[in-house]
Amino acid sequence: MTSEAFDVVILGGGNAGIGVTGPARRAGLSVAMIEQDVLGGTCPNRGCTPKKVLVAAGHALHEIECASIHKISVGKAKLDWPALIAREKDLIKDIPANLARAMAHRKVDVIKGQAAFVARIRSASATASSRPNTSSSRRDRSRDRCRSRAPNT
Ligand SMILES: Cc1cc2nc3c(=O)[nH]c(=O)nc-3n(C[C@H](O)[C@H](O)[C@H](O)COP(=O)(O)OP(=O)(O)OC[C@H]3O[C@@H](n4cnc5c(N)ncnc54)[C@H](O)[C@@H]3O)c2cc1C
Repeated sequence: MTSEAFDVVILGGGNAGIGVTGPARRAGLSVAMIEQDVLGGTCPNRGCTPKKVLVAAGHALHEIECASIHKISVGKAKLDWPALIAREKDLIKDIPANLARAMAHRKVDVIKGQAAFVARIRSASATASSRPNTSSSRRDRSRDRCRSRAPNT
């Protein structure tokens, strides 16, 4: 367990957290981001982006079904669901690594672990395990928890 102080500690590496890093770094602040799962959070990994891949396929199917309205003859469309899911996974698979590179480029310290406020804070510092949080039990999660601590000011 190491202890380090940052001007800004961001809990969660989703769209909101990542959006903060640019302005904070441009303001000359040191920034740490604590993420317990994959960088990018919901939107690119299990929300907006994968959803849009599936919705686009749905639209394509619908357009094919409507082709006769436009006097276009087509055979019956057949969806290969496993292949579509594979396409969806393939399109998003590089996003966390790309974001990690972007954060490194911005000189943001990305810390893998679960963050928690442990005291009333005015400015924060974070203490985190450098070990990836791959455990699933409550006790393990607690052990791997990254803590934000208030300095003695
Ligand atoms: C199916 C679906 C489709 C969507 N489609 C759209 C869309 O088309 N357009 C749109 O604008 N929005 C869409 N959204 C909403 C969008 O995904 C969210 O608004 C956005 O992801 C919120 O970003 P966030 O950073 O606030 O939260 P999140 O992306 O959820 O990120 C929070 C991050 O914090 C981490 N975290 C949480 N607690 C801790 C902790 N204690 N310690 C460390 N890390 C922690 C989580 O692991 C996560 O990575 C969709 C959502 C879903 C579910």
